[in-house]
Amino acid sequence: MTEEEAAKVVFPSEKTIRKEIALDSTTQGSVEGILKRRVEDRYVLFVAVKDGEATGYAVIVDEVTKTLTMTFIVGVGLDGKVLDVAVIEHKEKIGADCAKRKFLDQLKGKTLNDPIKRKKDVIHVVGATMSCDAVLRGTRKALAVVKEYCTADRVRAIVQEEPVTLQRHLMGSLVTITAHGSKASVNRAFDEIKRLDSILSNYQETSELSRLNREGSIEPGPELRNFLEQSRRYHELSGGAFDPTVAPLVRLWGFHDGKYRVPSRTELENAVIGFDKISLDRGVKLNGAQLDPGAIGKGIAVDAAVEILKKEGVTRAFVDFDSTVYALGTWKVAIRNPFQKDKTLGTLEVSNASVSTSGNYEKYFETDGKRYTHILDPRTRMPVEGVASVSVIAPSGAASDALSTAIFVGGLDLAAKAKVEAMLVTSDPKADAKTTPGWKFVKE
Ligand code: AMP
Ligand code: MG
Repeated sequence: MTEEEAAKVVFPSEKTIRKEIALDSTTQGSVEGILKRRVEDRYVLFVAVKDGEATGYAVIVDEVTKTLTMTFIVGVGLDGKVLDVAVIEHKEKIGADCAKRKFLDQLKGKTLNDPIKRKKDVIHVVGATMSCDAVLRGTRKALAVVKEYCTADRVRAIVQEEPVTLQRHLMGSLVTITAHGSKASVNRAFDEIKRLDSILSNYQETSELSRLNREGSIEPGPELRNFLEQSRRYHELSGGAFDPTVAPLVRLWGFHDGKYRVPSRTELENAVIGFDKISLDRGVKLNGAQLDPGAIGKGIAVDAAVEILKKEGVTRAFVDFDSTVYALGTWKVAIRNPFQKDKTLGTLEVSNASVSTSGNYEKYFETDGKRYTHILDPRTRMPVEGVASVSVIAPSGAASDALSTAIFVGGLDLAAKAKVEAMLVTSDPKADAKTTPGWKFVKE
């Protein structure tokens, strides 16, 4: 039997992580204190995992039978009880009967509080006494190793080597989170995105943002205030290119509901826009403006999801919100080719940062051979022309999301002003992409 086959005997249906462990001298000392004998410091440990959480352990132990070493596996539950024992290799000429189920089954449920001794609580196999004794000694050893080595912190670190990937439809997109953590942690991150959407959505009538748009003034909660303050910051930084008060223009062009049309000049001129109309004090007053969170909302939601993951103790995760992603730890991020959706332009290596792409392919319509895309220039009140996509790397999702839209409207020079790396692909498929000096694609 191989180690892996032995692990399957203990955990027939669970996924296991194999780990070669070395006990530090304190842990080894504690194990020896329990067993009142010397033990090795190196073991192979299997951790069974379900939904990103440990469900049990198995230790591979060696014990001398007469003169030779036998190897076996001892499964231990989270409650410190023996789950099962299986012999991997028995070398001695006699004593192989210690591997019989009749003998090994007696060990199930034993704990360190039990003697686990011949003539006490276990009946040995006649003719295999020495081998049976070795199994009993090794079982106690495995129980003691699990008790002393498998602390919550160590186990979490082992479990987190295996990532979990979950997907959920949120805010009109498919969100994928890959995290070296538990399924429960990832679900909490999804719940946080859902919660933010219920506050910041302009599609949900009951959201705080929709209420603000209806009533014109409210006392904003912390999430809406954060959205307004971050929006103001990127509005000012971009000289007005980023402006969530384009809401009436988004409606006039039909990008809000997909009923696309080219509005008349008068309609466009009559629309009230301009983020500087908004007064943000203890309360917020729109003064006739209307808010569209579309260019920064996903970024804010991604940041909130990452905060939850960090709070859950996750140190490595990738949150993929389609046009905005966040890399907690170091990850490779592919940038989509705006002319061929299933192809990429290149791959970035990103650490603890967010990447957003604004594209003319996301939402658009064509009339008379002309493409009208969903990103609008607040100065002309018209869809931006000449740009296919803009990608930005920034420290936060809010920054990369807002700035990709801002640069789409206001040009690549804004990247230096905002101290971020960016790439702009013009709508001419033959032209080279323009990038900031620090923008670097890596080899895959
Ligand atoms: P993104 O895909 O992040 O660039 O966001 C684009 C969305 O933001 C559009 O679908 C509109 O809802 C909204 N939007 C369009 N133009 C602007 C703009 N200049 N500033 C802020 N939001 C905009
Ligand atoms: Mg954006």
